[in-house]
Parts: sequence; C-alpha cells; structure tokens
Amino acid sequence: MIGKMQIAENLAQVRSGLPGDVTLVAVSKTHPAEAVREAYEAGQRVFGENRPQELVAKYEALPKDIEWHMIGTLQTNKVKYLAPFVTLIHSVDSARLAGTVHREALKHGRVIDVLLEVRIAAEETKHGWDEGELLAWLESGAYRDLTGIRIRGLMGMASFTEDRARVRREFRRLKGLFDRLKDGPFRDGAAFDRLSMGMSGDYGLAVEEGSNMVRIGSRIFGQRETAGPAAL
Ligand SMILES: *Cc1c(COP(=O)(O)O)cnc(C)c1O
Repeated sequence: MIGKMQIAENLAQVRSGLPGDVTLVAVSKTHPAEAVREAYEAGQRVFGENRPQELVAKYEALPKDIEWHMIGTLQTNKVKYLAPFVTLIHSVDSARLAGTVHREALKHGRVIDVLLEVRIAAEETKHGWDEGELLAWLESGAYRDLTGIRIRGLMGMASFTEDRARVRREFRRLKGLFDRLKDGPFRDGAAFDRLSMGMSGDYGLAVEEGSNMVRIGSRIFGQRETAGPAAL
C-alpha cells in the first residue's frame, strides 16, 4: 500500500485536472479498506469496486456516507448482496441482469441506478452489450417494466492499446450512442445523464470526448499487486 500523503496528493492532482462536472469514481479494488479511508479523509466519497464480496466487506468496514459503485462484471446470483446499499451499478450488460437488479431492488424497497455497459473495444474479452442488441432491447420497450432500476446512462471501456486515435474513436462512438439514446428512448426522463468512460491511462481523452464520470484506480492508489481478490 502506498503512503497516506501519496493517496491524498494523487487525488488532488487527478481532481485538479478534471472539469467540475465530471464525477470521480476512485477505484479501490484490491486495495485495503485503510487505503479507502485515506482517500475518504482527503474528501473522496465515491468509490468503485469490481467484486461483490470485496465491495460488501468495505461497505461494512467504512463510513456510511460513502457512495459505492459496482463497476465490474456482475453475476446475477451476486446482485442480492449489493441490492441493499449500492449507489450505482455501471456494468449492466444484459437484459437478464437488468431484470435481476430490478427484482432485488424491489425486495429492498429501492430503485437502483444503473448504467448499461456497451462493448466499444475490439477485444473479445471485454464485456458489454453489442450496440445492435442494446438498440433492439430498448426498441422492444421491455426495460420500461423494470421499475426497480433507473437507467442513468452508459459505461464503456476502450481498447487497451497505445493507439490513442483508436481509443478516441471508441470513446467518440460511445458518446454518439449516448446522445442518440438521450434524444431518443430516454428523452422524456431527465435521469439519463451519466456517461462513464475513462480510466487511469485514458481519462484525459475520455473527458475530451464527453465523459462525465471517470473510474480511476492505479493513478490514485498505486499499482495493484494482483488481479485477484484482495485480503482486507
Ligand atoms: C479496474 C477498473 C478501472 C480502473 O482502472 P485503472 O487503470 O487502475 O484506473 C476502471 N474501470 C473498470 C471497469 C475497472 O475494472
């Protein structure tokens, strides 16, 4: 874990480079609860995690005014653990998952804010709706019955590449889709207003291309030691 001053300093640097209307989600996955607390003490209140168990453990250990965002691939059988408290799920990538979040939210008398994750990268390994499938699902109108969720916008991850032009094109494409949906199926609701794109390596480009929510981990907390679950 990197030092206390370092986390506060990294946060200050990242924040100073972001326009005021861009929400910073500090991605604390694999880092201990103590690291989250350092960031909290430096004023950060929005944190992102990608594993349900780790998210729940940190939620329980840390102050209750933190907004917890689920940013990683979510299995339907894990939704129930997050439903009582999660603020925003960025990674709704299927009609089935949307339906599960809806049902679990209603069990807790909640409406859960979600983003629809769209696959914009060329890599097959990346998750998300294919654009055509997403448009077909929205066209069907089926989402309107899901009263336990509120669709707040889109999320996407660009290709992991040095090719900045390609990353920019991918972000631009997602912004184009976001604008189309905002003026189309979601034009009647004011709630479709979140475009989550940009990570440590590419958030500058993402913001230039219209992101208003960036998910930044290593730039704040340092390199992750493993891709696996962290010990808390
Ligand atoms: C880990 C992760 C991030 C943050 O990645 P960094 O490169 O460490 O900033 C952002 N989004 C998602 C979906 C992630 O899984």
